[in-house]
Amino acid sequence: MPELPEVESAVQRLRTAASGKKIAKVSVLHPALKRRLSPARARSLRGARIRDVERRGKHQLFHLDDGRVLHAHFRMTGDWLMGRADDELPRFARATIDFTDGSRVVLEDPRALSTLDLHAADAPPELGLGPEPSDPALTAAFFHAALSKKRGPIKPVLLDQRVIAGLGNIYAAESLWHSRISPETPASSLSVAQVRALLAAIRRVIKRATGTRYTDSSVSRLAVYDRVGKPCRRDKTPIERIVQAGRSTYYCPTCQR
Ligand SMILES: [Zn+2]
Repeated sequence: MPELPEVESAVQRLRTAASGKKIAKVSVLHPALKRRLSPARARSLRGARIRDVERRGKHQLFHLDDGRVLHAHFRMTGDWLMGRADDELPRFARATIDFTDGSRVVLEDPRALSTLDLHAADAPPELGLGPEPSDPALTAAFFHAALSKKRGPIKPVLLDQRVIAGLGNIYAAESLWHSRISPETPASSLSVAQVRALLAAIRRVIKRATGTRYTDSSVSRLAVYDRVGKPCRRDKTPIERIVQAGRSTYYCPTCQR
């Protein structure tokens, strides 16, 4: 599932492919997407120019020159494919954006859970996101104060996009391993020193992620995620898996306290 680094990588490719270009046609191909972006609304995009593409958390915002915002989210398996308007469509094409220069961006998504929504100029999307990990205003003291208000163990709290934007299941687990914090530690009980270590680990993990298409295809780089039974990279203890809030958590029971 794409997390912040993968979405950032997608946005960078998209920015190169689409910024400054004028939309010739938007086609919505999947019924679930058509319910969000009707054919009439898709037609209304014709002639609009893409001013810039922005990432916020795992969200992608196409800022149009008329002030409207096209909001995309990959959810599980979405991605952009860049090509020409006369290319054959890939099997899992869900929407296409054709530009007046003959180029095309395709939303490809085997599981078809990606979303596309169009927001009017006077009604920008309300994403309800917490700070980006890279935000200098996100200090250890600020993060500690935010975590001290949360109930429950730290791992599910890290997935709450209102607390910190962009983390998903993989990098939350990885960050906890790097900062030696048990995923079961109550978020509100972490010391400022632990939160400082956690924040540093989150920043390191995200920076190091290459942002290849799917993190899952490069799990060999990861410390704990999807490594149940394999030796901890610090102390050789077999990595364990627990389920928290319906999601798998991988951790080392020895060095994460
Ligand atoms: Zn360990």
